[in-house]
Amino acid sequence: MQFGKKKVLNNINLEIPEGSVTAIVGPSGSGKTTLLRTLNLLQLPSDGSIAIDDAQIDAQHIERAKIKQIRTKSTMVFQQFNLFKNLTALENVMSPLVYNKKTKLNEARKTALAVLKDFGLEKIAAQYPVTLSGGQQQRVSIARAIVAKPKVVLFDEPTSALDPELVAGVLNAIAKLAEQDITMVIVTHEIEFARQIADQAIFVEDGEIVDQGVAKELLSTQGNGRIANFVNSLV
Ligand code: ADP
Repeated sequence: MQFGKKKVLNNINLEIPEGSVTAIVGPSGSGKTTLLRTLNLLQLPSDGSIAIDDAQIDAQHIERAKIKQIRTKSTMVFQQFNLFKNLTALENVMSPLVYNKKTKLNEARKTALAVLKDFGLEKIAAQYPVTLSGGQQQRVSIARAIVAKPKVVLFDEPTSALDPELVAGVLNAIAKLAEQDITMVIVTHEIEFARQIADQAIFVEDGEIVDQGVAKELLSTQGNGRIANFVNSLV
């Protein structure tokens, strides 16, 4: 993956088992967000290929239809929530159903309300994002990300824009999803959380995956290698 002449990702070879939770960790500027955005084709790869399920795209043959195919299988939860400001919480959660799947409005409303309820957000369904706390906005955006049952949900530092007291509520919402059969990839600095909910962890440095393995082992505070030093700097 390149930005102009600058190579940001290199030699990335990553397989994510269906239904698993993968944490991506590493120093700032190492390429974690770019890797995540490339999985969703928000950044187009300059080399290699990406496959989700039966949809595959090759950097040498990028086609609109293929981009769409991959995007319908994966959704993204952003650092800054990215809710539609002119839509209520309920309408935000309804939006993927209405626009992509062409679900009937009544049906979409029912499904979206059920998901909001799962997240304990039914009381704020009629409110606009500006009236919600950051934690509520992020939980609405997670509800929106899963409402159309994507294969993969990608989280880009989902708690880093939140006030500290709101972090736990969002992490709990993500942990609840981890119990379901959704494939999740999470870029996070919340190491303790990653250790608890992730199956595998990958450590990215200078645009390369320098190590990957069982999350509880890879993200251990023991030892004095590069990863342990990094982990210890965060906990
Ligand atoms: P991380 O998520 O690990 O902090 P990023 O993926 O955001 O790292 O960034 C990796 C590198 O790519 C950094 O050097 C960053 O400056 C560069 N980069 C990220 N986005 C862009 C962009 N849109 N244009 C140019 N360079 C970028």
